[in-house]
Amino acid sequence: MIYRLVIFDLDGVIYRGDEPMPFAVETVARLRQEGTIVRFLTNNSALTREAYVRRLTAMGIPCEEEHFMTSAYATALYLQSQGAEGKRVFIVGEEGIHEELRRIGMRVVTDPEEEGADYVVAGIDRDFTYDKLRRAHYAIQHGAQFIATNRDATYPAAGGRNVPGGGAIVAAIQTCTGVEPLVIGKPNTYSLELLLQRCGVSADEAVLVGDRLDTDVLVGKRVGLHTVLVLTGVTSEGELHGVPAEMLPERVIRTLAEL
Ligand SMILES: [Mg+2]
Repeated sequence: MIYRLVIFDLDGVIYRGDEPMPFAVETVARLRQEGTIVRFLTNNSALTREAYVRRLTAMGIPCEEEHFMTSAYATALYLQSQGAEGKRVFIVGEEGIHEELRRIGMRVVTDPEEEGADYVVAGIDRDFTYDKLRRAHYAIQHGAQFIATNRDATYPAAGGRNVPGGGAIVAAIQTCTGVEPLVIGKPNTYSLELLLQRCGVSADEAVLVGDRLDTDVLVGKRVGLHTVLVLTGVTSEGELHGVPAEMLPERVIRTLAEL
């Protein structure tokens, strides 16, 4: 079976911190040589697509902005489709969200009490404070729509550790407001479907390679792609026992060399 498109998750699959994963560089190069389209799909909303280009290129994986679908970019595309241009948004997040929402012409507000807010968009924010939580709470209590880029509880950091992810911050906002957010990133199918559409490839001709069962594998199966779990990220082999069928990958590999 020849696959036309291979979609890689980033954290825990292509790299961990600033370190490329074993065989990541070689595997991407080999797939491209064989004529396979390679794309990257990440729930991590911290970086801009431009920053991801710099990061992967520095690791030896040359790429362009259009090779990436991030949860921040998908959120911007969703908001654009809802006519959010010119609308006010309070962001609990980092540069990736700020940049993508500015690009579609949204007005980023810092004080919802003063300026009002139509949306609150949340993702990972490594400068998260009680004050930001209070502002997000105020905005949502006063009618702003609550949107989460993703709900990942953790992500794999340098040195083999897993650290708190955007989902933990989204949960704090959900807890105080009692409002369930609209979630854009994986396992919601929106970002993956956009990526397939842009590549002009049908789901059964594509493979998704990820390290999380509850996001990567689940979204891949929901959309009908082939799924591969690589054990270099947050999931260990032991966690595969008793996993519900909807999150069970077609193949499990130890490193990308087996792809
Ligand atoms: Mg990952």
